[in-house]
Parts: sequence; structure tokens; C-alpha cells
Amino acid sequence: MHPFAYEAPTTIDAAVALLDKHGDRARPIAGGTDVLVQARANRWDLDAIVDVKNIPELTEISHYPDGSVAIGAAVPCYQIYEDQKIRDNFPGIIDAVEMIGGIQIQSRAALGGNLCNSSPSADGICPLIAYNAVCHIAGPGGDDNHRDVAVEDFCTGPGSNVLARGEILVSVVLPNPGDNFGAAYERFIPRNEMDIAVAGAGVSVKLNAAGDKFEAARVALAAVAPVPLVVPAAEAALVGNSVSDDVIEAAAKAAGDAASPIADMRGTIDQRKHLSAVLTRRMINQAVARARG
Ligand SMILES: Cc1cc2nc3c(=O)[nH]c(=O)nc-3n(C[C@H](O)[C@H](O)[C@H](O)COP(=O)(O)OP(=O)(O)OC[C@H]3O[C@@H](n4cnc5c(N)ncnc54)[C@H](O)[C@@H]3O)c2cc1C
Repeated sequence: MHPFAYEAPTTIDAAVALLDKHGDRARPIAGGTDVLVQARANRWDLDAIVDVKNIPELTEISHYPDGSVAIGAAVPCYQIYEDQKIRDNFPGIIDAVEMIGGIQIQSRAALGGNLCNSSPSADGICPLIAYNAVCHIAGPGGDDNHRDVAVEDFCTGPGSNVLARGEILVSVVLPNPGDNFGAAYERFIPRNEMDIAVAGAGVSVKLNAAGDKFEAARVALAAVAPVPLVVPAAEAALVGNSVSDDVIEAAAKAAGDAASPIADMRGTIDQRKHLSAVLTRRMINQAVARARG
């Protein structure tokens, strides 16, 4: 491995300046559970690695009076699942952070790192989409160069995303889901843990006050497209309709139809399309149960 400098800035501006200076020859590091593996595999020729864990905005969980929450990009999974307000209000996120790797990985790996690694099979991205989460991004130029991007628009291909030279993810912000809302995430892996999703589904639903009609829905699939795949046809199959097995089955079928996976050592195309429908059906039912409290 090519030797590189370890930088540990304490402000966003300093981190951004370092990343801007080095361009492709520097990478941010949060937990390092992806980036160090990739550096050892010589994916990049690095001059510097920029540790973002000493920057307060990236290491905090902030709950706001309006019920939204900002999760700093370097907050490790265990801090998220130990946060009682997130457990209570955003259980679909807990589904993901409790399943990423094992306990050792969860003590290092950040949800923001999962997002910035931008793997189509990432377990953290679909639930963020289900919660309509927004990325808060900082770039060179101080406060004038902050921008927000919806998580669903963040990934652009396997391992690539919208971040430009010098930009870092500061936090992901999840709006208050409100009443009668439920979300859930599940994946299929051949083992019990420590494996990469063959397919995954993150779903959210908003029901009417009576809990018998879909008012809004999000459906996102993992590992079945070059990016985490939003399925508008599955969402449309739910919205405006009564909660029934037939309606849920129609949405699940739409998810299976929309999945466009590759075949690899983990699964075939047919298996992944089938799993997309099965997991979507299960997660809609789980989201409905959570929405009904
Ligand atoms: C044994 C093992 C098991 C795993 N199991 C799972 C699993 O079950 N599910 C799953 O989804 N993943 C899994 N992973 C992958 C990995 O742990 C996750 O993707 C993790 O969430 C990455 O977070 P991190 O903080 O370690 O990221 P890092 O490795 O620090 O960074 C990941 C990428 O994001 C960039 N980055 C980090 N922070 C920022 C920032 N603030 N702004 C811009 N770019 C940034 C880095 O440069 C790098 O490209 C596993 C990995 C291992 C080694």
C-alpha cells in the first residue's frame, strides 16, 4: 500500500480544504470499515486520509423541536441504536444499523460512511430513502457552499455519488415522520449475519387516521440495480388504496418487476427479482403494523 498522511481536522472548513487540496488523492475516513479495506486493495493511490471523527457536526445526533433528527455523518451505528428517541421514532433506521456487520463493525461503522460508500447493496441507504432523509453537504467556500440533496438522489452508480471535489457529507436529516407512519427494512442473506445483501427492501407508509388506507408510501430496493432503487410503481400501487392483501401484493409485484439485478456468486437475476417482491410485501406489512402502533 502506498504510504499516506493521516490528517485529523477539527472543523468542517479544515476538512474540506484538505480534501480540496488533494482531490482524488485523498479520502475522508469515518469508521474506516470500507475505506481501509479498499485502500489495502489498492483501489486508490492516496496521499492523505482525512479523519472526520474530530469534527463536532459530524459526530453528533441532534433532535430538533419539530421532531426531525440530524445524524452526523461519522456517528457509528451503535450510537444510533442506543439513542432511545431514534429507537422510538425511526425504527426502520434501527433495523439497518443493528444488522450492519457485527458488533465490532457497528462500533466503528457510520451510517454516513455506509451512504458515502454508495454500494447498491448497502443496508443503510434504503431505510434513509424510506424516511425521506436529506444529505447535508459542505464544500469549499465556507457557509456559501453548503447544499442539501435527497438521499434518493445521492448515489450515481456502484461506489459513486454526487459529492464533488472537496465536498463532505456533514449529516443526514430525517424529517418528523408524523402520525400513522411506519417504516421497516429487511434484507436476504444466505447466512445469519456478516454478509452482503442478495436483495433488500426499505419501505415506509403513511396511513389515514383510521389506519385502513395508504396516504403515502416509499419503496426502495437494495442490491438489485446499480444504485439503491426507488420504485414509484410500487408506491403508486399503494397510495389512495385500502390496506388489503391484494393491494400489497400489487405493490410487491411492481417491486419485483422493477428490480433489474445482475447475477453473481450471491444470487441469480430471477432469485433477486423474486426476493424483491417477497421482501417488499413483508416490509409493507411490517410498516403497516408499525404505523398502527
Ligand atoms: C466485516 C464487515 C461486515 C460488513 N457488513 C455490512 C453489512 O452487513 N451491511 C452493509 O451495508 N455494510 C457492511 N459492511 C460495509 C461497511 O461496514 C459499511 O458500509 C459502513 O457503514 C461504512 O461506514 P464507515 O464509517 O466504516 O465508512 P468508511 O470506511 O470510513 O468510509 C466509507 C466511504 O465513505 C467515504 N466517507 C466517509 N465519511 C465521509 C463523509 N463524511 N463525507 C464524504 N465521504 C465520506 C470514505 O471516503 C469511503 O469512500 C461491512 C464491512 C465489513 C468489513
